[in-house]
Formats: sequence, structure tokens, C-alpha cells
Amino acid sequence: LAAISHELKTPVSSSRVLLETLRDVGAEDRVKLLDDYLDLLLQENLRMGRVVENFLNHTRLERHRQRFRIEAVEPARLVEEAVGPVRAEVERRGGRLRCFGQGHGMPLVLADAEAMGMVLALLLDNALKYSNGPPDIEVDFFPAGNRAYILVKDRGIGVRRAFRRLIFEKFYQVDPKLSRRGGGCGLGLSIARHIVEAHGGEIRHERRRGKGSVFRLHLPAVEAPDLRVVA
Ligand code: ADP
Repeated sequence: LAAISHELKTPVSSSRVLLETLRDVGAEDRVKLLDDYLDLLLQENLRMGRVVENFLNHTRLERHRQRFRIEAVEPARLVEEAVGPVRAEVERRGGRLRCFGQGHGMPLVLADAEAMGMVLALLLDNALKYSNGPPDIEVDFFPAGNRAYILVKDRGIGVRRAFRRLIFEKFYQVDPKLSRRGGGCGLGLSIARHIVEAHGGEIRHERRRGKGSVFRLHLPAVEAPDLRVVA
């Protein structure tokens, strides 16, 4: 609760300052400020919304209240859907986002498409947040026996060996100041781990040669491409 309150404190007080300013300035200045202030207020609101949503998702997962609809899904579809919303932001920041893996004869993965989409979205969001300068993100996937790997790679600040497991603990942040600037509260990877493990899969962080991070998802897969609904 302390972490959540702390996380909400900044957007709540900055929204208040913005609203008070709008209330107190003269009518003429208010018109001039309105466009910029509305954008800022919207950003703060989205930030608060993300914190609340992450917290609720996490609580639901921790209490095993979340039901998953496991289907046989094409990994390419999961990746495409997750990458779509991020691409514009990567481009706006002068970076690049590449997807590989198509045409590897990929098996279908056994996943709840929405939940697994959320895992990929959280990993991509982190790849953006923890990139210094223009983001350089790659998503790759390939088969591994009756399982499949999905890799999300970035060239960002990386994670030192000592923290590689800890980052999946709830509220754990290597550098809380830095993460807060990116609008995080240390729940994203914990949510991702809950979801992946509930699928019988695994998620881990690996060192990237050069610099940056690799998040590796290891998911159960089916080889029969006509198998649609499994459970
Ligand atoms: P946060 O909301 O702080 O981003 P997460 O649970 O998503 O919370 O991540 C936990 C911590 O792991 C982050 O605070 C950050 O220190 C580290 N981390 C996560 N993803 C990356 C990444 N792609 N590169 C470097 N560090 C990362």
C-alpha cells in the first residue's frame, strides 16, 4: 500500500497544481494554457490509471482469481498485436522495432491470448522505458521441442546479475527513481511472471551481449497446427 500510495502521490499532486493554476489565472491566460494543460492532465490521469490497473491485475493473479482461456495461438499473432501500439512511440523516439521468427515453422503456443498479450506489452513497455536514447527493440520467437520461446530484446540499461531474479518480485525496482520517472511501480514483471507460470511456462532475464536485456519466455506449445481449443 505504501508503494502504491507513493506512486499515486506524484500524479495526484501535479494534477492538483495544474488544476489550481487553471482556476487561478485570468480568462485570457486560461485559454492559452488550456491545450497544454489538458495534455498534461491526461498524461497524469493515464499514469494513475496504469498504477491502479496493475495493482488490481496483480491482486487478482496473486489470489488466483484470474481465469485463463487457454487456446492454441500463433505466436506471430501475439507478437503482432503487442507490437502494434508500441511502434509509433518507438518511431517518435527515433528508434527501431524489429520482429523476427516468422517462417520458422513455429508451433502454436498454448496461451490465453489476452493475458499473454499483456505480458508482451509489459515487456515492450519496459524495453522502451529502460532504453537510454532511441530504443532498439527486437522480438524473436522459435520452437524448442514441444515448447516455444519468445524473446524480447533491448539495447537499454540492462540488469546486473545480482538483480536478475529480484526484478520479478513484486514492487522490486533496481533504481526506484529511474523507474518512477518512467511511470512504473515495480509490479509489471511480477504480473508477467504470474501469468507465464499460470500457463506452465517460464520467464527469465538474460544478459545481452554488448548491452541491454533479453527477456525469454518459455511457453508450452502444440505441434498440430489444426488444434484450436485445448482447454
Ligand atoms: P517497473 O514498474 O519499475 O518498471 P517492473 O516490475 O516492470 O516494474 O520491473 C522491475 C524492475 O526491473 C524495474 O524497476 C527495472 O529496474 C528493471 N527492468 C525491467 N525491465 C527492464 C529492462 N528492459 N531493462 C532494464 N531494466 C529493466
